[in-house]
Amino acid sequence: MVTWTFRISALFYNPINSKMWQIMQFESVIGLEIHAQLKTKTKIFCSCSTAFGAPPNTHVCPVCLGMPGVLPVLNKKVVEFALRMALATGCSIAGESRFARKNYFYPDLPKGYQISQYELPLAEHGFVDVAVNGSVRRIGITRIHMEEDAGKLVHDPGRPVSRVDFNRTGVPLIEIVSEPDIRSAEEAGAYLRQLRSIVRYLQICDGNLEEGSFRCDANVSIRPRGSQTLGTRTELKNLNSFKHVEKALQYEIGRQQEVLADGGQIIQQTRLWDADKNQSFSMRGKEEAHDYRYFPDPDLLPLVIDEGWIDRIRQSLPELPAAKKKRFMDVYGLPAYDAGLLTSDRELADYYEACLGFFPHPKPVSNWVMGALLGLLHQQEKNITASPVSPEGLAQLLELVEKGVISGKIAKTVFDEMAATGKPAGKIVEEKGLVQITDSQALEPVVAKIIADQPEEVAAYQNGKTRLLGFFVGQVMKATRGKANPKLVNEILKKNLT
Ligand code: ADP
Ligand code: MG
Ligand code: ZN
Repeated sequence: MVTWTFRISALFYNPINSKMWQIMQFESVIGLEIHAQLKTKTKIFCSCSTAFGAPPNTHVCPVCLGMPGVLPVLNKKVVEFALRMALATGCSIAGESRFARKNYFYPDLPKGYQISQYELPLAEHGFVDVAVNGSVRRIGITRIHMEEDAGKLVHDPGRPVSRVDFNRTGVPLIEIVSEPDIRSAEEAGAYLRQLRSIVRYLQICDGNLEEGSFRCDANVSIRPRGSQTLGTRTELKNLNSFKHVEKALQYEIGRQQEVLADGGQIIQQTRLWDADKNQSFSMRGKEEAHDYRYFPDPDLLPLVIDEGWIDRIRQSLPELPAAKKKRFMDVYGLPAYDAGLLTSDRELADYYEACLGFFPHPKPVSNWVMGALLGLLHQQEKNITASPVSPEGLAQLLELVEKGVISGKIAKTVFDEMAATGKPAGKIVEEKGLVQITDSQALEPVVAKIIADQPEEVAAYQNGKTRLLGFFVGQVMKATRGKANPKLVNEILKKNLT
């Protein structure tokens, strides 16, 4: 109590500290709106292809071009994919939901409205658990609904014209809206990664932020710590990487704290993140906010979903990242970090378990997959499914280390050689003569020569500078090109140095 009074009065007289003090009393409140492009073969209301990269306006028809008199027909696969996500995030599914028209004008929207869901969305009241800094927080999901994507404007930098490509018009999306439960930029990043991981596990979206198949708008406000009411929020757009999401949120939280600490007020507005300038800029204020005049789409019937279908989809869901992570910890005894990283991607987890099938030592396999293998894939910009070293190949290599045939150090050289040539570990070890020297008779003369060559170091060692043992080990390893068994080298050195 005494300290508290003292702190306030001490800060009261110091205007700079006073500002700091106010800033520290705020907490940030974040809610994300995520748009995930669904990987169905055809569009949501017509049979045009969704394939990416086709010449402009070749995947179009009267329906997705919004010609008069056409009728949309709902793609069942879209509903199935949306239901997979809804069930994977613990949402309740609406027995009856509706499509609605969101009306606005933009050249990439040929109908003059987007078909979305509004008052009666497909799913509501879900959640995901997100691990940040070792603690787990539950983030609520307000709703998940289906909608169609708009087209794409292509700007010609050389001429004052823009063209429009309608190939993307009508590509299915789900929008996943979170509760304002997120409390930091870091947590927002973790939530986004978790959702990306889930859509990829479900194989409904490829989750690519850079290419825009997984997009995120972030709503953020701050409020005095402990307050239950929400502050005025701003909405951040143009966040096309995890790094941008976190940086933009940090920037915006800082900006709002500054405004409030200076006695100002937050203005509700939409802000665009400029990654080059590391700043956000106001795009439009509340006054310019759209009134979309939503109304039920009279061309589409209410969507009634059969309970049996929901059950079948629920049965067919794969083991999800959170459950897999827990299993990796419980069954394989992996630390949370390893389990989280290995299960962040379904194919990576499959690779890991395939490798364990051949070499059942969870932690060494985890170390090699997270270290050498992911390092190599990152360097070669390859996906785990294109790994140049197979799970069986890696297992064979680890077997050689386990049996003492090669040292752990040499194993890395062999691994790189396996990746480069595709040859099995055993063959590389044989061809290059990399078998570990575990024969003390072979090592004794090497040690003897090194001791004879370094009389000063030997004297220093004998006078108590025992740290020099490492130096001698290094010399032996160098002389044997890394092939000597380090444990044996230690023993022989100790014996000969004293
Ligand atoms: P809109 O559809 O106008 O963008 P919503 O009310 O649907 O608005 O909210 C969109 C997102 O903004 C949701 O993720 C929600 O959690 C979040 N949100 C709403 N109010 C706030 C606030 N005051 N601070 C932070 N996030 C908020
Ligand atoms: Mg919004
Ligand atoms: Zn079409």
